Amino acid sequence: MTSFHPPEVLLLGPGPSPVAKRVLDAMARPTIGHLDPRFVGMMDELKELLRYAFETGNTLTVPISAPGSAGMEAAFVNLIEAGDKVVICQNGVFGARMRENVIRIGATPIMVNDPFGMPIDLEKTEAALKANPGVKALAFVHAETSTGVESDAAALCKLAQEHGALSIVDAVTSLGGIPLRVDAWGCDAVYSGSQKCLSAPPGLSPLTFSDKAVAALKSRKTPVQSWFLDLGLVMNYWQGSGARAYHHTAPINMLYALHEALLMFKEEGREAAFARHRQNHLRLVAGLATIGLDLLVAESARLPQLNAVKVPEGVDEGAVRKRLLTDFNIEIGAGLGELAGKIWRIGLMGTGSTAESVDRVVHALGVCLGARRA
Ligand SMILES: *Cc1c(COP(=O)(O)O)cnc(C)c1O
Repeated sequence: MTSFHPPEVLLLGPGPSPVAKRVLDAMARPTIGHLDPRFVGMMDELKELLRYAFETGNTLTVPISAPGSAGMEAAFVNLIEAGDKVVICQNGVFGARMRENVIRIGATPIMVNDPFGMPIDLEKTEAALKANPGVKALAFVHAETSTGVESDAAALCKLAQEHGALSIVDAVTSLGGIPLRVDAWGCDAVYSGSQKCLSAPPGLSPLTFSDKAVAALKSRKTPVQSWFLDLGLVMNYWQGSGARAYHHTAPINMLYALHEALLMFKEEGREAAFARHRQNHLRLVAGLATIGLDLLVAESARLPQLNAVKVPEGVDEGAVRKRLLTDFNIEIGAGLGELAGKIWRIGLMGTGSTAESVDRVVHALGVCLGARRA
């Protein structure tokens, strides 16, 4: 056996997104102790950078030491207790995972379902909140990566507030790609992932809790069932003043990478990054039209960072993806769940959102589809 040398692949799927050399270089810097005061200084900066990205002043803003799914689980296990009722809006694959989390806690999910490819229906959500007084939380996915749909997070968080419920927001794919104004919208528990629009390697889940969410955590009747994800314990490590209590060994070099990726995001500026995502999305839509391809989602609900492209009649979608990877070194995603075989998912996330990425994938798709017709 010898060292593993992966090929250079242009990552235009649903995540991971391309990681800049600058971020990879940061990760290769010397590992130091996770209680070393210089590391602790970096952690403080990292929390500040996360607050910039989330547009929040929330004290409890940390990266969970595990991927986005752990951020999801952390939000649910810390806020929800057995017997609670939770309204879950599902319009794609990830809402089903929220439901699974709630069931495993021993709480009751109240589902509001919308078809894959459509945004969450606000009226149906409001009706569910009205019909179920005393709901503990309203949970939804802001940017559905499985379908390429954006839902109205501001309106959904407002509905939660009006009904005395906490909002739990999956922002795994939205953070860094489209506006996510945690404080202005009054979001309570929001989690994300490092490998989507932030373009750091996978393995970390930025998370932020409002004061209201922290109060709910502190007034629990039962201990958080997960020791590892218990934010009360995690906070003693990330927030202890001076002496920080050991909880688990932080993924030190991964945190260097996230720090660097967030620094790049801040240097570009939030609004500039959002505009770039939108611009390259429009370039992709125009390019796809020239080769006869159309998007699944109505224009008003399209995510710029995740484009669900309809597979034309008679085309073997798997064969096209395989050829993109082997002949062009481009990775795109397949459809999930009921959209399997029906769509491709082209991610233009973070550093992957460039004019060059768009032109390369449109050219390669054109070749693959042309070859089929010939
Ligand atoms: C990717 C993703 C997740 C899961 O994140 P992992 O890092 O793969 O665990 C959750 N929700 C959404 C919307 C996602 O796109």
